Amino acid sequence: MEKMFHLLFPDVCVICGSLLNGSERYCCTACISGFDRFRSPSEAEEVLRHAIATRFSDKFLFDRGWSLFWFHKDNSLQQALHAMKYEGLFTIGTLFGHQLGQWMLQGDVPGDIDCVVPVPLHYLKKVERSFNQAEKIAEGIAQSIHKPVRPELLKRKRYTESQTSLPAPLRRKNPAGAFQAGKSSMPPHVLLVDDVITTGATIASAASALRAAGVRRVSIASVALAAKE
Ligand SMILES: [Zn+2]
Repeated sequence: MEKMFHLLFPDVCVICGSLLNGSERYCCTACISGFDRFRSPSEAEEVLRHAIATRFSDKFLFDRGWSLFWFHKDNSLQQALHAMKYEGLFTIGTLFGHQLGQWMLQGDVPGDIDCVVPVPLHYLKKVERSFNQAEKIAEGIAQSIHKPVRPELLKRKRYTESQTSLPAPLRRKNPAGAFQAGKSSMPPHVLLVDDVITTGATIASAASALRAAGVRRVSIASVALAAKE
């Protein structure tokens, strides 16, 4: 029903339903100002580093990290991300990606990032939602920082594939087990992108699959970072 509403009335805010003015897209300025934005890219990176270090000690060391917003339950941002995921409003993903890219450019972006790789959706979820929102975010970032998006470098393993069915050398190469690198040769420095980092387990597992396949440096970016509830 909501999806129908947005198809019929595309010029209203996806969060509060108020009419958008000419310069607004998808979310009105009032709702966007309700998002809990980090003060600076360096503050966000520090918080991200602390959150990941607390949860993984030295088991997941990323190179550089970016996040735009704190994620709180029931905040207007949650509604925007929900609309992006479940209502087919994937252009919000590209919009967030652009914002994230511009945010990165406010600080120093290492020139040696080779490409942007979205964290892949579980293939069953991909069918359900029909697109991967992380891919749209990655596209927005890539346009801003002028790097290619290479989704083919990382795949989600098939649902039925049990870790124990793999031969031992493969198990060692892919300890977390949820992802596997694609068949292409791996660039040295990858920017891994997801919509929200909650526990960090997903992005850590994705990073470890890339590392096992030969990526030397993994940097990470997410639209939001979950606050401790
Ligand atoms: Zn609004």
